[in-house]
Amino acid sequence: MLKLYNTLTRKKEEFVPLDKKNNIVKIYTCGPTVYNYAHIGNMRAYIFMDTLRKVLKYNGYKLNHVMNITDVGHLTSDEDYGEDKMAKSAKEQHKSVTEIAKIYTDAFMKDIESLNIEKPEHIVKATDHIKDMEEYVDKIVKNGYAYETSKGVYFDTSKLKSYGELSRVDLKNQRAGARIDIDEEKKNPLDFALWIKAPKEHIMKWNSKYGVCYPGWHIECSAMSNKYLGDKFDIHTGGVDHIPIHHENEIAQSKGATGKNPANFWMHVEFLLIDNGKMSKSLGNVYKLDDLIKRGIEPLAYRFFTYTSHYRNKLNFTWDAIKAAQISLDRLRELTLSHKGVDTKIDKQKLGDFENRFKNALNDDLNMPASLAVAFEVAKEHEKSNDYYLLLKKFDTVLSLNIDLKKQEEKIKIPEEIKNILQERKEARDKKDFKTSDILRDKLKSLGYIVIDSKEGQKIEKI
Ligand code: AMP
Ligand code: ZN
Repeated sequence: MLKLYNTLTRKKEEFVPLDKKNNIVKIYTCGPTVYNYAHIGNMRAYIFMDTLRKVLKYNGYKLNHVMNITDVGHLTSDEDYGEDKMAKSAKEQHKSVTEIAKIYTDAFMKDIESLNIEKPEHIVKATDHIKDMEEYVDKIVKNGYAYETSKGVYFDTSKLKSYGELSRVDLKNQRAGARIDIDEEKKNPLDFALWIKAPKEHIMKWNSKYGVCYPGWHIECSAMSNKYLGDKFDIHTGGVDHIPIHHENEIAQSKGATGKNPANFWMHVEFLLIDNGKMSKSLGNVYKLDDLIKRGIEPLAYRFFTYTSHYRNKLNFTWDAIKAAQISLDRLRELTLSHKGVDTKIDKQKLGDFENRFKNALNDDLNMPASLAVAFEVAKEHEKSNDYYLLLKKFDTVLSLNIDLKKQEEKIKIPEEIKNILQERKEARDKKDFKTSDILRDKLKSLGYIVIDSKEGQKIEKI
C-alpha cells in the first residue's frame, strides 16, 4: 500500500487515485521561474518530483503530470508589488525577457536531463496561458470572491472561511500589521492580487477587460492546472516555502473559481541547506550543478546525495558530504557490475524478499534512505549472480542512478603474474579440469584477487 504524507491533513495517508478505473494519477508541480540558473536547492525539489513520479510508476500507475514554467509575473518577493524577476534579469543582462526565458529554460532542461529527471507529460509556459488566466480571474470575480480596485483585481480572503487551512497558522496575526498601510483600497490586509494593472514602465503586460495588466503570481498555477487536469486532481507538489503563501493562495483561487480544493494530496519538499545555513549570493554559496561538475562531482552523485535524507527533512550540503556521495555511488555501481552476467541462480523467495523490502520503503512516503540501503544490501551479496544484477536494474527504474555505469578509469592494471594464472585457469576450465581451476582460484585469492566466472569469461576484482 502506497502511503504519502499530505501537508493538508498533516498525516501519512493511503494513496488512491481519483481515476481508479484507468489507474491514471494527475499531478501538478510548481516549476521554475526562468530568470536565472537553477541552484542545487531547486534541483532537490525536482529530484523529489521525479522520485514521486517513478514510485507511482513502480506501483503500476500511469501519469498525467503538468509542470509550469514561470516566464512572467513572479515578483522579487512573495508580495504583490515589486520588480518582476524576469524583467529585472533582462535589464541586468541587456537582453529581452523572451531571450532570458529561453536561455534559462534551456539550461533548466539540460540540468534535469543530467539528473535523469523525466519530463512531465505537459510542460506549460505562463506566457502561453494569459487568456486562460484572465478567464479564471473572471470566474472568481463572477463567483463573488474578488473585487476590482484602481491597482488590479484582488481576492477577497474574508469571503473564504477556510483561508489559511494549508499553513495552519494564524495568518491574520502573522502578516497583517506590516502591510496594513501598503494599499488602502484592499478590503482586508491579507487580500492578494489576481490581476495587476500595469504601470507604464512595466515590460510584460497584456490587454484585458481590466485594462493593460499582468497576472499576479499565483494565478498561473490555478489556471493551468485547471486547464490540463480539471477541477480536481490527485497530487500537487512544491517546496515548503510555497505552503504559507503561494499554495494557500492557489487553494483560495480554486475555491473561488470551482468551489474545490484542487488537489487531494499536497506534498512539499524541505529545503537544502549549505553548511547548515541558507544559500545566499553574498556568501557565494549558491551552487549550481556546473559548480559540482567542475569539482569532479557527477550530477547523479548529487541525486544520490539527496537520497541520504528523507524529503521532508532538511538536508545539509557540504563538499565533504557530496564527495562521500560520489564515492558511495561509484561503489554501488562497481558492486552492481560484479553481478552482471554471473550464471548463478538465486532462490526466488530471497529475491522476492529484497524486492518487497525495497518497495515497502518506497511506499512509506518515499523513504529513499531505506530503499537505498536495500539496494546496497543486494549489491553487497557475496554470491555473485545476474539475478541480483537484474533486480538492481529494476530498482534503478526508481533510483535513476545509472546503476550499471562503468567507471572510465575502472580498468584495473592486471600484473603479468596474475594474467598468466588466469590463462592457465582458462586452459584448465576448457579441458573441464575443475580441480586445477579451483586450486588456481584459491591461488588468485591469496594474491588478492577474486575471480568470477561469467558468460563473457573470467572477470577479476581486487579484494
Ligand atoms: P523558484 O524557481 O524560485 O520558484 O524555485 C523552484 C523550486 O525550488 C520551488 O519548488 C522551491 O520551493 C524550490 N526551492 C528553492 N530553494 C530551495 C532549497 N534551498 N531547497 C529545496 N528546494 C528549494
Ligand atoms: Zn505554483
